[in-house]
This record gives sequence, C-alpha cells and structure tokens, in this order.
Amino acid sequence: MLSATIREDFPILSQRMNGKPLTYLDSAATSQKPQRVIDALVRYYREYNANVHRGIYKIAEQATQAYEASRVKVAAFINAPRPEELIFTRSTTEAINLVAYAWGRANVRAGDEIILTEMEHHSNLVPWQLLAAERQARLRFVPFDEQGMLQLHEFDRLLTDRTRLVALTHQSNVLGTINPIREIAAKAHAAGAKVLVDGAQSAPHMSVDVQALGADFFAFSAHKMCGPTGAGALWARYDILDAMPPFQGGGEMIMLVHLDKTTYKDPPYKFEAGTPNIADCIVWGEAVDYLKAIGMQAIRDHEQRLTVYAMRRLGEIPGLRLFGPESPMRRGGALSFELDVAHPHDVAQVLDQDGIAVRAGHHCAQPLHRALGVSATTRASLYLYNTEADIDTLVAGLYTVRNLFSPKTATAPKP
Ligand code: PLP
Repeated sequence: MLSATIREDFPILSQRMNGKPLTYLDSAATSQKPQRVIDALVRYYREYNANVHRGIYKIAEQATQAYEASRVKVAAFINAPRPEELIFTRSTTEAINLVAYAWGRANVRAGDEIILTEMEHHSNLVPWQLLAAERQARLRFVPFDEQGMLQLHEFDRLLTDRTRLVALTHQSNVLGTINPIREIAAKAHAAGAKVLVDGAQSAPHMSVDVQALGADFFAFSAHKMCGPTGAGALWARYDILDAMPPFQGGGEMIMLVHLDKTTYKDPPYKFEAGTPNIADCIVWGEAVDYLKAIGMQAIRDHEQRLTVYAMRRLGEIPGLRLFGPESPMRRGGALSFELDVAHPHDVAQVLDQDGIAVRAGHHCAQPLHRALGVSATTRASLYLYNTEADIDTLVAGLYTVRNLFSPKTATAPKP
C-alpha cells in the first residue's frame, strides 16, 4: 500500500483550479513534481550552477559530479548494465530521433523494413516515416484487436529477413496496453532485427529491466516520472552505440578536431554535443531517488488497484465506452473513453469547471484513433498520487456532463 501522505509531497495538488480542489488526471501528458525535486532544481541554480566537463574550479566539478551521478542513477533505474550506455537527451522524442538519424541512416537501406504498431505515439512513427522516405525503406504495422492487444500473429507474418528494426511502445498512452516486449524482442532478434522500446509510459509506472526485456534501445522522459521537463534519455547496448555515427556535432563530443576531419569521444559523450540540459538531468536523479524510495512495484500495485476501481466506476456511466484491455494485468492507468452525448473537448471543458484536469483529443496518436473509429477521446490518466476520491470526483463530473448535454436522460452516480 502506498502511504496516504504521498499527495502532500506534491505542492501543486493542494491548489485549487476554477475554485475547486485540483483533481489531476493527466499524468500521461506530464506528471506533477514532488517538493524535493523542486528543491533540488533551486539548489542547483543557487549553489553550483556551472557548465559540465569543462571547468576545473570547485562548482564546475560539483556540477559535473552531480550530472554523472544522475546518469548512474537513471541507468540503474532501468537496470542498464553500464552507465555509459545512457545518453541524456531532451526527451523520449529526441531519443527516438537520435536512433532514427544516427543508427537508421547507417543501417537502413532501400528495400529494408521497419515494423511498428498501429498504437504508436507520433514520436515513434514520424521519425521512421522520415527515415523510410529518405532510404526507400518500408514501414509495416502490427494492428491491435478490439481489446487493444497487439495481434501477434500479424507480427509473426510481417517479420522477415528484410526487417531491420522493430520499434514499439512498452505501454500505450491511449489504450494503457502493456505490450509483450520480451516475446517480441526474442522473435525480432531471431530474425536478425534490432528492437527499440518507447518507454515513455512504462518507465514512470513499473519496474523496467532493459536486459530482461531484451531491448536494444529504450527511450524515456524525466517529466513523466516526477522529474523536470527538458530531460530524457536513450539507453542502448554499448556495442551498438560504439558502432553508431554521431547524432549532432559540436562541442564536447570530440576528441580531436582539424579543419578537415574530427575524431569523436566514446559513448555516451559522442552523442551529447554542446552544453546539455545540466540542471534538469541532475534533478532527474532526485526524482529517481524519490520513486525508488517508494518502490516501483508498490506504484504499479497502487495504479492497478486504482485502475480496477476506475474501470468499474466508469462502467456504471450510461453511454460511456472505455477503450483498451479489460484485464488490469495487461494495462496501465491511461483510461481513454468516449461519451455518447458530448465531444471529448466539451467533456474536458465541463470537467475543468469542476477542477478536474483530463486530456481530450488524439493524444498524439491519430492512426490509433483512426483504428478505433473515433476522431478523439477523453483520457484520464493515473499516477502514484491519485486516489479513489479522484475517481469519484471524475465520475461525478462525467454525470454533470451527461446531464448538461442530455437533460432528458438525467442520471446520478450510484451512492
Ligand atoms: N511515446 C509515448 C508513448 C508518449 O506517451 C509520449 C508522450 O506523451 C512520447 C512518446 C513523447 O514523449 P516526450 O513528449 O516526452 O518526448
């Protein structure tokens, strides 16, 4: 059980929105930050703000040491074998673009294929479209079924000796589906393909072990796991990184520069050109400490219990259709739904009046919504600080929406 006082760690949650207590149900977009993470950010700027890997004075060494210590923590958080395998980026998006640009341009040729799924976030789709167009490669897509589960027999059919890469999300930001990465990775490797896992929605919510998953690349963002915005990471096996050409060129990624040629540092520095996002990368380590102290299994258990409760309560609302797997074992706490009487934007706007923050739209997954046959959904997404009371507030708010848009069929939540 998570401590009932966890909410108190997050100062924003004691605020009011539109005169009502804030019910924050949009953690899939970004998570809230505990006070100790906010304090760590202020501490960096007040006490040891300096560029890293350059100065030999005291605070520059302190900043470098903190930056590298955070790399060790973030790498250990996903059980990376070596901290040098973790490249700090701006976000999951940048991490995936890094692979598409550096690994993709060196390894994908005309006629090669990349397998994605129909449930990808645009971040794990558009970079591959760009690469495929440039290299005359082909994208193939694994569909999902009515339960929001990948159709693995289709994956088996699509996987051939032309497949260079399988890139897929670990946990869907819309359906909540947790994909069977280990099984997919084993098959992909047997076919000679590499595997990239988009971990933006899994790393914050469950214990991740990149070695056990069998991934070659794993991308994730600090801001969805109680850390600051502007920091993310790419993990990849060292031998792959070592063989990859750089992503961006500039300061700090070089060994020797001549006017006509340059040699590069070893990973991870080869991929961290210019001044990195020092403050946010350091503070990400504080967020990792915070989550680890609570325990990722405890967080997963809490969210699973809450998801079961939310699915039951949402299921009571007439005209509400929830997407994604029915089994809480197969999903996380991203709960996307449509309500027959109102457009998702109207739903979100009315909920906002009650202090409830949800997201409405396509959640950066237009092809997924097309496959569902809807143009948009409303999404409530859960995290460690949410409670059953948040779900009750949401359900009451959804009855308000129903009754506003369909007064003739007015109903009330079950007591
Ligand atoms: N992949 C998934 C599944 C996501 O949910 C998101 C963000 O919502 C991203 C990628 C992109 O993450 P970021 O915006 O932090 O780059």
